[in-house]
Amino acid sequence: MSILTTKFGGTSVGSVEALQQAAAIIQDQTHNWEHVVVVVSAMSGVTNALLASAKAAAEGDEKGYTTTIDDIHYRHQETIRALLPKGDARTTLETKISKFIQDLRTFCHSIHVMGEVTPRGTDSIASLGERMNARVFAALLDSSGTPSIAVDATELIVTDDHFMDAAPLMDLTRARIQKNLLPLLEKGLTPVVTGFVSATKTGITTTLGRGGSDYTSAILGDCLDADEVWTYTDVDGVMTADPRIVPAARVVPELSYSEVSEMAYFGAKVLHPKTIRPIIERGIPLWVKNTFNPSFPGTRIAKESNTKAGMVTAITTIRNLSIVNVEGRGMLGVPGIAARTFAAVAREGASVLMISQSSSEQSICFIIPTESAAGVLRSIEEEMALELMRRDIDRIWAQEDVEILTVIGSGMRDTPGVSARVFGALGRENINVIAIAQGSSEFSISMVVTAEDATRAVQAIHAEVVEKNGK
Ligand code: ADP
Ligand code: ASP
Ligand code: MG
Repeated sequence: MSILTTKFGGTSVGSVEALQQAAAIIQDQTHNWEHVVVVVSAMSGVTNALLASAKAAAEGDEKGYTTTIDDIHYRHQETIRALLPKGDARTTLETKISKFIQDLRTFCHSIHVMGEVTPRGTDSIASLGERMNARVFAALLDSSGTPSIAVDATELIVTDDHFMDAAPLMDLTRARIQKNLLPLLEKGLTPVVTGFVSATKTGITTTLGRGGSDYTSAILGDCLDADEVWTYTDVDGVMTADPRIVPAARVVPELSYSEVSEMAYFGAKVLHPKTIRPIIERGIPLWVKNTFNPSFPGTRIAKESNTKAGMVTAITTIRNLSIVNVEGRGMLGVPGIAARTFAAVAREGASVLMISQSSSEQSICFIIPTESAAGVLRSIEEEMALELMRRDIDRIWAQEDVEILTVIGSGMRDTPGVSARVFGALGRENINVIAIAQGSSEFSISMVVTAEDATRAVQAIHAEVVEKNGK
């Protein structure tokens, strides 16, 4: 039995033309594969609009959330009218969408009354974009001759109750998928599953985090023992850098699981960072392809890639960061300062993206999202109150507006000289590197620069270690 899981991101199902194009891709696939399982995102911009409606409601802006909800409704109605001829199928679909919009109004109304939105409420609202679009896409497939059914992943993916970033419980998920999805395949249907959405054991809606539809399709691929997982997006594949930052970026034809995980972790938006986890063990190949250029092969991600020695695979960036410094001569040789510092950070629930300590032990510096910076500073100051009083620690401070740039490539391992070229390129551009860290995997080097320098820095590194190598 050959099974393919195919995911379409927001832009790939974000307009009438895109939806038609995606449907044509699925029709083609159903001829080549015994079973195809589709995963869809919300129409592009809809998740943001849903979250904006919840925020407006919490802030008491009734007109704001009502207008946003009307816009979301209108966009879906117009899309449906353009996709389906007048008739029963269209009426049924319109009724389903109106029902979701009604749910959204009810949710926002209660948020408005309460004056706040909880993470749990946020997930119920955020899930509506995928729920609506799965119905739209299934109806489109059905009307164009591919018998199809929309499936809410709340029936398939079981998670913990960490709302807005839930973790799947894989054994329960596998059992649900086998029970609820396999019979549909056996009936000859092409299921259209909501990406991003999941539920707790007791059925409360959760989500897998922003961009989580990639993860959904990998989870389904694993639990169905699929032969391949294909992710359709709006660029030709995984590229050597974000094409919006580096116009000279090009598609990487092959990547290893570890390289792509490193890329996604360090900011390449093209795949959700957890996507690889479920498929690594079975070694299921993952392809990243372009909906709008379907004959282009895209990027193949598998166990091994044939990266050449010395080659850099990609450069990524993470934005909106702050660098926190804990400094003091009295820290020298005092055990436990680092442990206590990071315990204080952890109490704030902030994620530390990179750490570096100067060898003199007189300072610790690390990078966190700017949104956590104020809380983290407060928490470390509390923890170190005594040291601050005694002047063992002189200063705890943060610099905003920095970015992490990461140079990634398994071809860098055992090849001296790549970092020299990276820093040489930055030196020529007069770019100051604030901090550096090399991953223990030895195939990534991360550095911190100011946001102001970041674009120039990525372009300079790309020109030196990617463009020159290709020639
Ligand atoms: P989708 O909705 O299809 O999941 P996303 O917007 O989440 O699409 O991700 C695709 C976008 O990621 C591309 O349009 C591109 O701008 C951006 N991107 C950032 N880094 C990279 C990279 N290294 N390779 C390809 N795309 C990247
Ligand atoms: N629609 C969700 C988001 O915008 C999930 C996704 O697109 O993958 O984050
Ligand atoms: Mg995405």
